[in-house]
Amino acid sequence: EAKKHKNSARIFASHMQDSYLNKVLVEQKLRHGLEQGELFMVYQPQVDCAGQLCGVEALVRWNNADLGFVPPDQFIPVAEASGLMPALGNFILHTTLNELAALQKKMSLNFDISINISVSQFLQPDFITILTREIMGSGIPSRMVTLEITESLFIEDLDQIIPLLKQINDMGLQISMDDFGTGYSSLSMLRQLPIDELKIDKSFVDGISDNRADQKMIQNIIAIGKNYDLVVLAEGVEDQKQMEMLQRFGCDRFQGYHFSRPLSAGDLEHFLRKAVG
Ligand code: C2E
Ligand code: CA
Ligand code: CA
Ligand code: CA
Repeated sequence: EAKKHKNSARIFASHMQDSYLNKVLVEQKLRHGLEQGELFMVYQPQVDCAGQLCGVEALVRWNNADLGFVPPDQFIPVAEASGLMPALGNFILHTTLNELAALQKKMSLNFDISINISVSQFLQPDFITILTREIMGSGIPSRMVTLEITESLFIEDLDQIIPLLKQINDMGLQISMDDFGTGYSSLSMLRQLPIDELKIDKSFVDGISDNRADQKMIQNIIAIGKNYDLVVLAEGVEDQKQMEMLQRFGCDRFQGYHFSRPLSAGDLEHFLRKAVG
């Protein structure tokens, strides 16, 4: 997956500068692409210390005839800025829950399904209603669903956000703090939030083998996680050495190319059948 994507990402970047015109073009093509079925989901396995699959993270993909493969960190901001995010977010929720429900029925699986929720998606007035409807409709138990939020959410009105997070927690879903340590959040805030998991960003994992500052950052995040009784998951784990150091530091869960790239639902099924043996 990554090689193919790296090439098209470069093509995309050279054609698409940050101009207004290009944003409008991407927005139009994205709107069209959503209707035409150009978007799809892939799922990246997450494993525990015993190497057992314990979850998957759902990641959105867009392959456009003209633009090629457009990376999500380029088109999601466009969707957020243009009012397309509710439609895209609903597509992500619906597709993920239903594809994995179908897989669960076939294989009677029990693992966490992590879904990234952008700020504007989280703040759309009917978010909880849609979330409830999609979970009920899929038949996936809500305890199996984790919502990944980022610290950028906390720039918004906390008096609005904390009750929403509590409501989601009361519904039985898990909440994960994505990219923890890269943005803005304070320890006092963590104490107020019904968080279940901290995710260590790839940028810290990248430096774990030779960068003392990154090592310290990771050890601090794990210590915070332990103190608050949270699961700590590291993303972007690419080799055995990183995995061993993370494990030694006390990290609970791991995700990255070392275990698997993001997979289509069909490829995830093969991956699981191989793992079960
Ligand atoms: P993220 O949430 O931090 O996702 C992790 C990113 O790291 C993913 O990139 C994943 O493919 C990549 N990754 C995982 N393991 C490795 C590894 O071992 N090595 C390397 N080099 N990369 C690894 P991706 O899929 O391109 O997504 C980029 C960002 O776009 C995500 O960062 C997330 O912020 C956003 N995104 C992706 N899918 C969705 C979605 O469905 N909804 C929302 N709201 N945002 C999404
Ligand atoms: Ca994520
Ligand atoms: Ca909880
Ligand atoms: Ca990240």
